[in-house]
Amino acid sequence: MVRLADVILDRVVGVLDHPFTYRVPDSLDDDLKVGHWVSVPLGRAEAQGVVQRVYEGEDSPQLKPITGLVLPEPVLTPHLLELADWMSDAYLCYQAQAVRAMVPTSVRQDRSARPQVLWYRTVGTRVGRPSLKQTVFEYIAQHGPVDRRTVLDVFPNAGAALRALVAEEALEVLTRVPERDFQASASPALTPDQEVVLATIRSARETSWLLEGVTGSGKTEVYLSLIQDALRDGKQALALLPEIALTPQTVSRFRERFGNHVAVWHSGLSAGERRLTWEAVRAHEVSVVVGARSAVFLPFDSLGLIVLDEEHEPSYKQDEHPRYHTRDVALKRGQQEGARVILGSATPSLETRFAADSGSIGYVRLPSRVLGRPLPTVEVVDMREELRAGNRDIFSGTLKHALEETLAAREQAILFLNRRGFATFVLCRSCGQAVECPQCSVSMTFHQRENQLLCHYCERTAAVPTQCPECGSDKIRHFGAGTERVVDEVARLFPEARIVRADRDTLTRPQDYADLYYQFFRGEADVLVGTQMIAKGMDFPRVTLVGVVAADTALHLPDFRSAERTFQLLVQAGGRSGRSERGGRVVVQTYNPDHYAVQWAAEHDYGHFYQDEILYRQATGYPPFTDLWLLVLEGADLDEVRRDADAVARELRQSGLDEQVLGPAPAPLAKVRGHFRFHVLIKQDRGRGESDISTRLRDLQARRPGINITRDPYFMM
Ligand code: ADP
Ligand code: ZN
Ligand code: ZN
Repeated sequence: MVRLADVILDRVVGVLDHPFTYRVPDSLDDDLKVGHWVSVPLGRAEAQGVVQRVYEGEDSPQLKPITGLVLPEPVLTPHLLELADWMSDAYLCYQAQAVRAMVPTSVRQDRSARPQVLWYRTVGTRVGRPSLKQTVFEYIAQHGPVDRRTVLDVFPNAGAALRALVAEEALEVLTRVPERDFQASASPALTPDQEVVLATIRSARETSWLLEGVTGSGKTEVYLSLIQDALRDGKQALALLPEIALTPQTVSRFRERFGNHVAVWHSGLSAGERRLTWEAVRAHEVSVVVGARSAVFLPFDSLGLIVLDEEHEPSYKQDEHPRYHTRDVALKRGQQEGARVILGSATPSLETRFAADSGSIGYVRLPSRVLGRPLPTVEVVDMREELRAGNRDIFSGTLKHALEETLAAREQAILFLNRRGFATFVLCRSCGQAVECPQCSVSMTFHQRENQLLCHYCERTAAVPTQCPECGSDKIRHFGAGTERVVDEVARLFPEARIVRADRDTLTRPQDYADLYYQFFRGEADVLVGTQMIAKGMDFPRVTLVGVVAADTALHLPDFRSAERTFQLLVQAGGRSGRSERGGRVVVQTYNPDHYAVQWAAEHDYGHFYQDEILYRQATGYPPFTDLWLLVLEGADLDEVRRDADAVARELRQSGLDEQVLGPAPAPLAKVRGHFRFHVLIKQDRGRGESDISTRLRDLQARRPGINITRDPYFMM
């Protein structure tokens, strides 16, 4: 018998997608652990991979020895290895893809010594004339131990000042924060509702919960209390936020409460910062991580709590391999680690609320805003009436008047557009034709500043036509309301108003959010015009009016979640209004005032919306009653793609599936970048136990690697 190790190779190739067995050389016998990143021979080449299993077994001449350790410490915990295995099954990805999602490239590839995190703490007091040195000293004195990076973020030129302060022994340098320096800022006295929620969670056997609470009901305060519980037990805590909600404000609330024990994890980190944070989590040097979805894979070894805020957010679904849903991974990980999982939202996903209703997770609610603050009043304006009354503007009389009042009272307003590209397109009023991208089957978007058309799928630009390309008519003009047009309209109506705009064109870096946020927060602008990226998370006390310029642009998308998305966006956008004592109002402009998503959103009534929507899902056989698998086939030759799609659908039907196979059908986005696209949709009833569907799809994928398969798809276009 010899010592053997199974290794998952870091190769994304079908034939290598299983563990390979190697002999453990004597030199590694004592050191090799599960989770180690190693180099191994592969044919005549070298490969790297992660050790999945170490065991005693029969020697054989075919077995080659592991070459060596690439990194001295294991990169994956046994739980994370198990999770990678589960993911590759659940989402049909290679194990190597799951592993790559878990271990950042900078951890796998950077062999240099681990960078040291330095913290500064003041010693005694220091009196000095006003200078950068004195300011830095006072800053650190006030904030307790501060890490070097934070100091340099606040005072970019403070390097020399820090050196001088250390030299005169006014500052002490620490390599980690001593526990006794940790001073939580006090939490406010909790409301009776918050107390009930906490008592329920703390005393129950369930570990996974839906916390449903209207915007501003104090959910975040509940998260903070539960994090405090975890820290008291010597455990770590993870708070997941949708990427765009990683606003400075949210993060600073965690920092205020838990000081330097908080690390932040998002896509804006550099490779070096990523590695530093990853290592600090593994070494248990940070206890709280506030992060975007991939933080769910950080190497915690004593996780006590996972919070998933705004759990309904579609951005929790990863649309590249591995195509995981953060919520499902968080629940799985919570189970593994014995950690509490809290899913929070004002507008829970149908899946989560259904799970709560059927008792598979616990259910707690915060039914009203804290301190008796009222929810904003909502007025629904029927834009068809406006049109009949001769108003062709993008603003109804009601919204114009509300803006006027808000500006006169020196309060702030947010004007919200549901979706960018759909709004401003160029339409011929003679033949009704919109100008489409010749490569992709979507309307091109009109951009006023550059005075040109842009395709948001392939980035092709085109001049604005003066004649219709179809019928030659000159009655061609741009329609709808993009953010730029709304800005211009506000400027025309209210020349004094200071306006800022927030959409994917103006906010490209994480720092842009922070800048915009503070600009508006400090009252340097009166009106914020933006897309759904500003609909949630941000808390502006001076905002008393939210205008939803076009509520129904997402309502008619060919996606079974379109009503749910519309409801969520309306409620979340409305939630930005009246977050202080000033109160607030919401004006919703729509062409579908009778739609249940619009009506229940106007009433802030999630419960009734859920009842209507769940009936629709049951009748049509969509989640949460079924599991969906979406197969997308693409190709440059229309007939060939159609034939392939037919063959795939036929094969799936003939394989004796009980599942329903729908299609093939041309995808709603029937052509992108010159490639034709077809959909095949598989529906499997929930609660019938695991069938062999994933085995069969895996087999299909191995034979036809071009097919793009997504379980639980969120992007149905
Ligand atoms: P949510 O996360 O549900 O939107 P928050 O936790 O952000 O709600 O609370 C909304 C506002 O009310 C915040 O400004 C918060 O500081 C404040 N708040 C929350 N709980 C309390 C409390 N118990 N006492 C006083 N203010 C509170
Ligand atoms: Zn025309
Ligand atoms: Zn295009």
